[in-house]
Amino acid sequence: MAEIQLRNVGKRWGSFVGVDNFDLTIADKEFLVLLGPSGCGKTTTMRMIAGLEDVTEGEILIGGKVVNELEPKDRDVSMVFQSYALYPNMNVYENIRFPLRVRGIDQSTHDEKVRRASAMVELDDFLHRKPAELSGGQRQRVALARAIVREPNVFLMDEPLSNLDAKLRVSTRAQIKNLSHELAVTTIYVTHDQIEAMTLADRVVVMKGGVVQQVGSPTDIYDKPANAFVASFIGSPAMNLMDGAMSGGTFTAPNVKITGLNAPDGPLTLGYRAEDASLASDGNGQINAPIYTLELLGDATMISVRVGDALVSVKADKTYRAEIGDMVSISVPNEICHLFNANDGARIG
Ligand code: ATP
Repeated sequence: MAEIQLRNVGKRWGSFVGVDNFDLTIADKEFLVLLGPSGCGKTTTMRMIAGLEDVTEGEILIGGKVVNELEPKDRDVSMVFQSYALYPNMNVYENIRFPLRVRGIDQSTHDEKVRRASAMVELDDFLHRKPAELSGGQRQRVALARAIVREPNVFLMDEPLSNLDAKLRVSTRAQIKNLSHELAVTTIYVTHDQIEAMTLADRVVVMKGGVVQQVGSPTDIYDKPANAFVASFIGSPAMNLMDGAMSGGTFTAPNVKITGLNAPDGPLTLGYRAEDASLASDGNGQINAPIYTLELLGDATMISVRVGDALVSVKADKTYRAEIGDMVSISVPNEICHLFNANDGARIG
């Protein structure tokens, strides 16, 4: 049983706040992803859980026990970093076996444990190789096997895929997902890649400037972002956001007029997702503007137009063709609109 509780956890260096008032319970066997831009406090949060960084305030509990004062080695957590730090003079077998040796685990069990862990990451045929004789993806899998072999209660993974090329990242991501299903161990995974977060997580924590912005399932966060920052961080492409003004239920911005909305008069940030909108015939849409750019994506054509300072887009059929500068009309029905406070970005509808 490895439920993790963070009770109002904070980290400060002098007056600089790295992580502020982080309060969350991570369920036993849950796969939790910490997501946010560089410097938002993800790694610091993870390092506090691992015991590599002191907590300035609050408490961390693992399996119901306060661990603030426990050494990393006594917390029963296993970490995988982006730099996988394998021992170059040991072969794959010895690298995977290493945690068992340093922890004094009964030698007679080593062989079975190493072979089981290496089979899980499909490295059975590489056990005799040295790290220098492996590809980046294979090395990362050795690091994963080394984390698995200890059979910890908690996995902590800090951007484990970031050193891999795009294709390998996708296949290794799938492997981590499958592995986590098989192992059913509480996992905290740090990334700034929203696709990794969406595909791997049971729940995602979106962070900014050391502060948690939203906690929820990938669908919650995609469908109902708590604020404009989360909306702009999730989705591929990210949500289109336009600054404009509300008056008597009508939102206006350059080239935009959307009626029948429920928001108070005054400045407003309105968002919609490119895939929810469509091209309207006969100028019937709510956005009418010349095409700024047109991108062929293979499965669709992405059309972007300018609204004030912002570029907003619509996904059209893959066969759609037009020229830059041609007028288009984009249909943005009320039910696909996300409304955010123009000052603090908070969701209002
Ligand atoms: P990245 O994705 O770039 O790894 P991150 O979200 O993991 O970023 P952290 O490494 O947690 O960010 O850092 C959070 C903030 O705390 C950053 O602004 C960083 O500069 C600062 N920070 C980290 N370690 C220290 C330290 N030892 N002393 C002072 N400030 C620090």
